[in-house]
Amino acid sequence: MTDSDYKIIVGLEIHVQLATRTKMFCGCELAFAEDPNSRVCPTCLGLPGALPVMNAQAVEFAILTATALNCKIAEFTKWDRKSYYYPDLPKNYQISQYDLPIGSNGFIEIPLSDGQTKKIRILRVHLEEDAGKNVHTSGNFSQVDLNRAGTPLLEIVTEPDMNSAEEVRALAIELQRIVRFLGVSQADMQKGHMRFEPNVNLHIERGGSTSKTPITEVKNLNSFKALEKSVAFEAVRQFDEFLDTGICLQSGNKKTFGWDDVKEVTVLQREKEEAHDYRYFPDPDLVPVVVNEEWLERIKTKLCELPLKMQSRFISEYGLSDYDAGVLTTDKEMAKYFDDTVKTGADAKRVCNLITQTGIKIANEKGCGVAQLGIEPTRLAALAKITDDGKISATAAVTVFEKMLESKDSPDKIAQQLDLLQRSDEGELEKIVDEVITANAQAVEDVKSGGKKSKKAHGFLMGQVMQKSKGKANPQIVAKILGSKLGS
Ligand code: ZN
Ligand code: MN
Repeated sequence: MTDSDYKIIVGLEIHVQLATRTKMFCGCELAFAEDPNSRVCPTCLGLPGALPVMNAQAVEFAILTATALNCKIAEFTKWDRKSYYYPDLPKNYQISQYDLPIGSNGFIEIPLSDGQTKKIRILRVHLEEDAGKNVHTSGNFSQVDLNRAGTPLLEIVTEPDMNSAEEVRALAIELQRIVRFLGVSQADMQKGHMRFEPNVNLHIERGGSTSKTPITEVKNLNSFKALEKSVAFEAVRQFDEFLDTGICLQSGNKKTFGWDDVKEVTVLQREKEEAHDYRYFPDPDLVPVVVNEEWLERIKTKLCELPLKMQSRFISEYGLSDYDAGVLTTDKEMAKYFDDTVKTGADAKRVCNLITQTGIKIANEKGCGVAQLGIEPTRLAALAKITDDGKISATAAVTVFEKMLESKDSPDKIAQQLDLLQRSDEGELEKIVDEVITANAQAVEDVKSGGKKSKKAHGFLMGQVMQKSKGKANPQIVAKILGSKLGS
C-alpha cells in the first residue's frame, strides 16, 4: 500500500495564554521567570475562604478572539469547576467553562501551500485558568511553583477538518498571527504561550470499505515543529500498527501520547482514556457572565483587518508575491507600516524589499520592530523613490537606510552627503563608455559578433564602465548608451 491509500484526520486543541496584566480570578500580575511563588495570593494559592473575582479584560479578549474566529458568542455563560487532583492544582479543581463556552460554531481560514485557503471549523472557544508548575530540578523530590496558577487561558477546539501535518502547522501559525494582530496574546512559543494537542487518526481505504484507526491524542506540544512532526509520525505509526494488528476505532480505545523532542517519536502515556469524571458543576463563588448587545458592540470595535485578509490584499492590490505578503503580515505593526508607506505613492515591491531585507535585519539587531525604528512612512517612501528613479543603487539604499536612523535629513540629502548619488548625466557617462570601448577592442568585437561570447563581453564592458565611474554610474543609463553604440 502507498500513502495515498489513507487519509489523515486531525482535530486540534489549543491553549493560548492571554496578555492580560493580572491573573484570571485574582490581582496577581502574570509572571515569567520570576522567583518561584513570588506572584501568588490566597486566591491563586487556593487557601480556604479566598474568593475569586473575574478578570473582565480576559473575558473581552476571549470574546474578541471568538468573534475573529467567526464564532457565535454566548449571551449567557458561566464558570464551572473541573475537579481533579494534582500537586500543581492547589484547589483540586480548575475553573473552566463546560457546557456554555463563550464562543461556538466558528471557523478559521488557513493558507495552503498552493496559494488556496481552507476553512477549518471551530467547535468551541472557552476561558479557563492555568495550573502551576511542578519543578524537577535536582534530588529525589519535586517542587511546586504556583506563579503560573490562575493565568488566563483561551482554549480553542477545532473540528477534525485537517488532513495533513502541513495543514495542522498552517492552522497553528495562522492562529498565532490572529491573536497577535488582535493584541490578545504575545503568543510567544518560547514562553509557552501556545500549547497544542492534536487528535489524530486515519481513514484507510481497502476493497471498497473504509477502516478507521483508533484516535490518539498527543499532549502538550509547544512548538510548531513538534506539532507538525508528531502528527506526521502518528500517521505512519498508526498505519504500521493497522497493518500489523488490524485494530480499528471503537469507543474507549483512545490512547494518549507524549512527544519525545530528542528522538522525535510519540511515547505512549495512557493506554485507555479513563472514564473521566471531572464532576463538573457551576462554581458557586462566581456569578454568571451576561454578554449584552452593548458590551459586545464595544468589544467588536477592537476588531481589525485580519492577517490572511491583509496578505491577500497585498497580493491583489500591490502585486506582491504570496511569500513577500506573508512575511510582511507576520507582524501587525510592520504590515501597517508597509501599507502606510505604499499609500503615500511609493512602489510596493521596492518598499517591501527595503522593509524585509534591510529593515527587519536592523530591527532584529536593535531588538525592536521595523515600525519602531523611527523612520516615518513618508521618509521611507522618499528612499524608495530615489532608489526607483536610479538616483542611488539598491546597495546605496541600504547605507542611506542605516543613516536615516540617526539623521532627520531627507534620503536625497543623505545620499548627497555620503556621495552615493549615481551619475546619470548622459554626456558624462558617454565619455566613459567611449574610453572603455576604445580600450577593449576584443570585447567590443565579441559583443558585435552576437555569438556565444556576446553576453559575457557585454557584462565585462558594463563592469569596466562601473569601475571607471567608481561604482557611481547609473547602470540603466550605461546599458542604454552601450546598447546604442554597439547595436546590442
Ligand atoms: Zn493570586
Ligand atoms: Mn483546557
